[in-house]
Amino acid sequence: MTIKNAGIAPVAPYTPNKRPTIIFSIGPNCPVRCEGCYNHFGDTAQHGGLVTADEVATFAKRAKIAGLAQATVAGGDPLFHPEIVRILQRFKAMGLRVKLDTVGTSFLGEAKIVFKGKGVTPAVAVADIAPYVDFVNVPLDGSSQKTLGAFRKGRPHLFDETRKITSMLRAHHVHFGYNTVANTSNIHELEAIRTIAEEDGADEWQVFEYDPKGPNPSREKDALTLHTGEFEAAVLRIPPSQSNMKVDFKNLQDRTGAYFLIDDSGHAWKPSGAGQRFIVGHIINDQNEVIDAWERHVIEMHQEP
Ligand code: SF4
Repeated sequence: MTIKNAGIAPVAPYTPNKRPTIIFSIGPNCPVRCEGCYNHFGDTAQHGGLVTADEVATFAKRAKIAGLAQATVAGGDPLFHPEIVRILQRFKAMGLRVKLDTVGTSFLGEAKIVFKGKGVTPAVAVADIAPYVDFVNVPLDGSSQKTLGAFRKGRPHLFDETRKITSMLRAHHVHFGYNTVANTSNIHELEAIRTIAEEDGADEWQVFEYDPKGPNPSREKDALTLHTGEFEAAVLRIPPSQSNMKVDFKNLQDRTGAYFLIDDSGHAWKPSGAGQRFIVGHIINDQNEVIDAWERHVIEMHQEP
């Protein structure tokens, strides 16, 4: 559901983006650990290694002929992929709209791997990616480190870092939005988070209801899960705003099946409910099957009301 000037408005079922999009979840690990992380990591050691820039570009070229309009580059953290700049460059060069979903830690310098690995990854300069991205989404799950840290663990100064990262994006004229995962720790702060997003110059604020059925189970999931109707009630309590920031509230209803994804081992998959996934095949080794599935996905997308 998209609401301009978030205010008193009902929460309608989520409708997928009508711009045919593939989510390339190429980041093999992450600078934070979220309670109940929703990402299906590709387990690259077992499945042929990390997908390469050449592989994603070769596949995307064929997918574009079959309708692909937007590449969303996500993770784990996509800035942790060693060829991230080259991947963004290749997508842009083929005329795709390019979105980047990242925590953004690598923009600040070398980043420690907190989830799905150990060690550090090199810094990525905002100036190096700025020419190739149309939009960057950055998580902001609270109006202070305390609430943000209840859900996104492993970086004790993430709240301040996040605002620094978006100020760097703004300085490079990169459009950005904040994403909030609404859960019991921050549900009473939505208005305060929106105020921060407006102050920081975000173009968009997306609020997703916490999904406890992610593929990476968390002991905290019951404590973070909202009661039925709590998300919708909280949205109704947010007073109207005069800003032009685009606001989307996305509840759990009808989200399953809306996405077509590639994991960091190069396997294409679709959600099949309750944190499960259906793997279509590898984007190079099983390319014909994956392109067939993508074509069916595009047709289904356009048939949805
Ligand atoms: S949900 Fe959190 S831990 Fe999982 S990939 Fe995203 S930022 Fe990383």
